[in-house]
This record gives sequence, structure tokens and C-alpha cells, in this order.
Amino acid sequence: MPDRNSAAHRAMAAAVARMPDPVSYQETALLETDLVAAFGTCRAVAVSSGTAAITTALAACGIGEGHEVLLPAVTVVMTVAAVAACGARPVFVDSAADGRGMDLNDLAAKTGPATRAVVAVHLAGRTDGIHDLAAYTRATGLRLIEDACQAQGTTSGGRQAGTIGDMGCFSLKDGKLLACGEGGYLLTDNTDLAARAAAYRTHWQSDAPDAPAGTHLGVNFRLAEPLAALARHHLTRFPEALAQRREQAAALHRAVDGTPGLEPITAAAGEEPNGYAALWRLTLPDPRAFAARLAQAGVPNSTGTHRLTAAHLHPACSRFASGDLPHARVTVDALLAVPFTEHDTDEAIHRRALTIRREAVRWTR
Ligand SMILES: *Cc1c(COP(=O)(O)O)cnc(C)c1O
Repeated sequence: MPDRNSAAHRAMAAAVARMPDPVSYQETALLETDLVAAFGTCRAVAVSSGTAAITTALAACGIGEGHEVLLPAVTVVMTVAAVAACGARPVFVDSAADGRGMDLNDLAAKTGPATRAVVAVHLAGRTDGIHDLAAYTRATGLRLIEDACQAQGTTSGGRQAGTIGDMGCFSLKDGKLLACGEGGYLLTDNTDLAARAAAYRTHWQSDAPDAPAGTHLGVNFRLAEPLAALARHHLTRFPEALAQRREQAAALHRAVDGTPGLEPITAAAGEEPNGYAALWRLTLPDPRAFAARLAQAGVPNSTGTHRLTAAHLHPACSRFASGDLPHARVTVDALLAVPFTEHDTDEAIHRRALTIRREAVRWTR
């Protein structure tokens, strides 16, 4: 323990005194009000991470032991982990043949009596197929949860990604478009689900409809108050961050245009992506090895750097798999998603473009 009169102790005490009040959760409440205003939903619930947001959404929908949740095989491990954390069984759905969104026939074939929800994952800021999916879940009475961690600011048919289904889940981890180090939030127009999510987040210490405080077990998925204050600050600059990412993605697409073996993946009709990543479908041989080569050469990307693998083939998730999902595997392997950060300069983007062009030409020679 530091001496109470030491300079270090006094500095720590002064820092604590400057921090937001940790008991009232005032900054969290203000952040939720600001998110509601920014995204135009009825409610926002701030949580400690994007994974916590997905877990909380599933818990708010009453999903747990004995239930099944449909999700695309083209996803990151966090989505799968959130479903497993609730005690439900993840059921992987194949991609559409063109790689855009889920195969609705496979989705329908895998919908059974234990199915409670579909989690749509908007990888690289793209929401392909979300409106058809929403029509399907409405018709079948399933919940639709959007993993919009990479899709902050994307709009589709004039609607914000993450506000089309029952609940939208977002991450505030550094590297996402809106960030405060670590954190997450949920958006919903359903006030009952919002109350259940808020109760679950804080040990069910608050009331929800038909579930008063203290009647259920929750968890601690609270967002720390200093991080909520930071997120509020960054939210005021979100429009500029969004414009910057869109410009970065457009610039890299322009500079790589015409390179053999790279087909740009254009936005779906009616969609304005957030520019989270520049996106191509690789048509050159052994695309995963090519993406790994690009990563080595200084171009960070989904498969080469982050080892994105279709969930049914991922060593940590394959125990949930049942049968081959051929389109999902091909879609992931052929995907080249190059993400941006706010620190990527025009010069850095230009250098990446030159590297991609050079390596693609070498690869096909
Ligand atoms: C980042 C991310 C998550 C998880 O967010 P964390 O804040 O790291 O828990 C989940 N899904 C997708 C698609 C993501 O990109």
C-alpha cells in the first residue's frame, strides 16, 4: 500500500476525484441518451463489450439452454461465443451462392422447434440480405438480432444497420468506427427488451416487465464510467469518422481498380456502407495464401492477418457444425477485406495499393 501522504497517493486520489461518479452511472445514462439521439431508436443500453452486447441481447430475448440460434458460418468467433455463453446451440447457415448474405433456403431448412432467433452478422460493414431476413423472422416469429459491431453508420434502404431487427449489437473496442478502448451497446425500439437487457447487464437489479428486480440472475456487463464519458466525446465526432472511413475505402478501391484477380465487392442496392473495410473477391489461385502474403507485406486483412475462417471449420467452433457449407468456405477464403483506422494516412493507403497491385501481378505470373 502506498503511504497515504506520498505524492503517488495524492495524485491517485486527485485522479479519482476527477472521475465520473461510479455509483450513479450518470455518464452511462447520458451516453445512452446520446446514442438514442444519434441512431433514432427508442432505447440504447451500454455494456462492457460487443460480445457482451450480443450475449445480453440473447438473454433479453429469453434464449438459453435447449434453444437453437441460427447464424451465418461467415462470422467471427465472438458471435459464436456469445450464443454458446447463453447455453444455446449455434446452428451455422451457409452463404448464398454469390456470397452475399445467408442462403435463405438453408436457413429455412435449419429452422426447427428449438429455434428462437437469427443473428445476422454485418461483416465489413455490409448488411446484404437483411431485409429479406427481417421478413423471414417476422413471418416465423423468430427474434432477429444484428451483430452490427463492424457496421456502425452503414445504412440500408435508409435504415441504420443495427436498427432493422429486434436488437442491434455494437462494439466500442478500439478499431471499430466508434470506440472508447473497450465497450459496447445495444439499440432497440422494443422497450421491454431494453428493460430486460438493462436488468441482465446489472445483476437484474432493475425492473423489467414481468421480471421485477431480483427475480432473475444477471451478470456484470456494465460499461466503466470513464469509458462511457470517452464514448460520449467520440460520438460527437462520429459523422467525421464515418466520412473519413468512407473516403479511405473509396480511395483504396480506386487505386487498386483493374488489378487482375481482385473483383471489388460493390455495395448492395440501397446500401451505403460505412467504409469499415475495402472489399474484394479474390479470383487468383490459393487466395488464402495470397492474403497471408499481403499481410506479410504490410497490408492487414481478414484472412491473412486475422485468420478469419468459416465457423464450421474453425477449430474452436467446429463441434457445433453439422455437414459441409460449401458456399461459406469459398466465400471466406476468397474474401479480401482490408480494414482502416483513423490513423491511416493517404500515403499509407497509397502504399498498400501499390503492394496489392505488385503482389497480385507476381502471384498470377
Ligand atoms: C469486434 C466484433 C465483435 C466483438 O466485439 P468486442 O467488443 O471485441 O467484444 C463481435 N462481432 C463482430 C462482427 C466484431 O467485429
